[in-house]
Amino acid sequence: MTTNSALRIIMLGPPGSGKGTQATRICERYNLGHVSTGDILRRHIQQGSELGQKAETAMAAGELLPDSLLYQMLEELYEDRDGEHVSFILDGFPRSLEQAEALEEFLQNRGQKVHQVVMLVLDDEKVVARLAGRRTCPECGRSYHLLAAPPRNEGVCDEDGTELIWRTDDHEEIIRRRLQTYHQETEPVATFYQEQGVLREVDASADMDQVEARIASGLKELM
Ligand code: AMP
Repeated sequence: MTTNSALRIIMLGPPGSGKGTQATRICERYNLGHVSTGDILRRHIQQGSELGQKAETAMAAGELLPDSLLYQMLEELYEDRDGEHVSFILDGFPRSLEQAEALEEFLQNRGQKVHQVVMLVLDDEKVVARLAGRRTCPECGRSYHLLAAPPRNEGVCDEDGTELIWRTDDHEEIIRRRLQTYHQETEPVATFYQEQGVLREVDASADMDQVEARIASGLKELM
């Protein structure tokens, strides 16, 4: 990276567009921190923390959590990691215009800004097909697909042998509700960043290596 300052990127897109997978790959490629609000919340649920208990019902129903919970969680995370200097990809946040405006203010108060917003574009039917077949490792977060990318041994993670789970919110009825939430709540976030001139759309229907290459080429200008 030629810039001295930290690099702050947001990954936007419907559920199942590959935000988590691509954020992981790009973070490894450029040594950035990966902040996935969905993964953090799922860990809280597994641990049975107070936050996890508050989050569980809304997440299982495919609804968004109250903003105040997210702000508190992110603020703690930011201070813990010395947010002044940390480069990161935010995956799963902001998910509404209110959250985008709050993030803007949060960063502005620290003299910081978002450098690029990568928007993964995928139509609803492809989302449903992808997510209904997704199985996830609760230990390392790696995702598989029953048809497109099955694990070597049925039902267990290639990395650590943990039994794979079918996330409650990856069942079709809930997927459709999550998509509705996405169109209503999250698409306005794309418009917000487009007006700031930092939005970059990437077709997410190609294979994972191609999508990664397209994202990387768009980030080069920032390096
Ligand atoms: P994800 O793994 O990113 O698809 O997130 C799974 C679920 O976590 C979402 O459907 C929401 O219930 C919750 N969640 C994650 N990020 C946020 C956010 N920024 N605001 C509100 N709820 C969120």
